[in-house]
Amino acid sequence: LAEPLFAGLPGDCEISFEFFPPKTEKMEEQLWDSVITLAPLAPRFVSVTYGAGGSTRERTHSTVARIARETSIPAAAHLTCVEATKDEIAEVAHAYWEAGVRHIVALRGDSPTADGKFTPHPDGYASAAELVEGLQKIHPFEISVSAYPETHPEAASAATDIDFLKRKLDAGASRAITQFFFEPETFFRFRDAVAAAGINAEIVPGIMPVSNFAAITRMSNMTGTAIPAWMAHLFEGLDDHPPARQLVAATVAAEMCRRLYAGGVRDFHFYTLNRAELSYAICHLLGKRPVSSAQEKAA
Ligand code: FAD
Repeated sequence: LAEPLFAGLPGDCEISFEFFPPKTEKMEEQLWDSVITLAPLAPRFVSVTYGAGGSTRERTHSTVARIARETSIPAAAHLTCVEATKDEIAEVAHAYWEAGVRHIVALRGDSPTADGKFTPHPDGYASAAELVEGLQKIHPFEISVSAYPETHPEAASAATDIDFLKRKLDAGASRAITQFFFEPETFFRFRDAVAAAGINAEIVPGIMPVSNFAAITRMSNMTGTAIPAWMAHLFEGLDDHPPARQLVAATVAAEMCRRLYAGGVRDFHFYTLNRAELSYAICHLLGKRPVSSAQEKAA
C-alpha cells in the first residue's frame, strides 16, 4: 500500500523500434502503418532485421531505404555474415551508404538450415566481431551489436559470452542491444557483469511486448530466454480474448520498463513485430508524447 500508483514516467528516455521486412503487400501496409504511428514519438532510430542466410536482402534494403527516404527517423539495417563473402557484404554496405543509411546492426546470424549451426563462408566473416571490423573499413557506419543477458545458447560460459561482446565493442561498435528477457533482474545482473568486465558502452535492453504468448514461448525456447511461471499464469485463458490479452501485455511490459527505469535505464529498444499499438502504449506510459514535425526536424 505504501507504493504509489504508477502514474507514468517523465519521458526523459530514448526509444528505438525494430521491424522485420514484410513478405506481402498486406504486410508492407501493416509495417508502414506502424512506422507512421510510431514516428511522431521521435525514436532515436528504427531498425529492420535481416532474414536467415540473407533471404531478405532485397526486402530489408528496400524497407530501410524507404524509411530513410520518406521519414526523418534515422534508419538502421541489420546485416549478418551468413552465406556471404566479404565482397558481397561490402556490396550491401555500399548500397546502404548510397541510400543514406549510416547505422548497421552487425550480427553473425544463424544458418538457415535445420540445425541452425553457423558455418562461416570460406571468403566471409566468421563472427560478428569480424563483421564490425570489416564494416568500419568500408564506411564510417555507426554500429550496434547484440548482447545476451541470459547468455547465447552457443556460449561456453557467461564470461566468454561477455568476452565476445567486448571484442565486438573493441572492434568499433558503439552500443549493444540485448536479446529480450522477462525479468528486470536478468538485465541488471547482466549490466553489472558487463561493467565488471570493463565494458562501458551503452547496453540497451530489448523489450518484447508479449502479444502472442504461444509464439513468444516458441521464440524463447530458441533464444534461451526464461519464461517466468507468473507470465504463463498471467496469459492463461486469454487466447480467445485478444483485446484483454493486449491490455495484459501492455501492463506486463510497462511494469518491466518502469522497473528498468527505476534501475537507471534510459534507453529502450522495442521489438515491435511490425505492430505499433503495444509499443506505442508502453512508450506513452514511459512519458513519450508525439513531437510535431517542426520539433522533430529541429531535434
Ligand atoms: P556473435 O556475437 O558473433 O556470437 C554470439 C555468441 O556465440 C558469442 O557471444 C559467443 O558466446 C558464442 N560464439 C560465437 N562464435 C563462437 C566460437 N567460435 N566459439 C565459441 N563461442 C562462440 N539474426 C538474424 O538472422 N537477423 C537479424 O536481423 C538479427 N537481429 C538480431 C538483433 C538483436 C538485437 C539480437 C540480440 C539478435 C539478433 N539476431 C538476428 C540473432 C543472432 O543472429 C543470433 O543470436 C546468432 O546466433 C548470433 O549472432 P551474434 O551477432 O550475436 O554473434
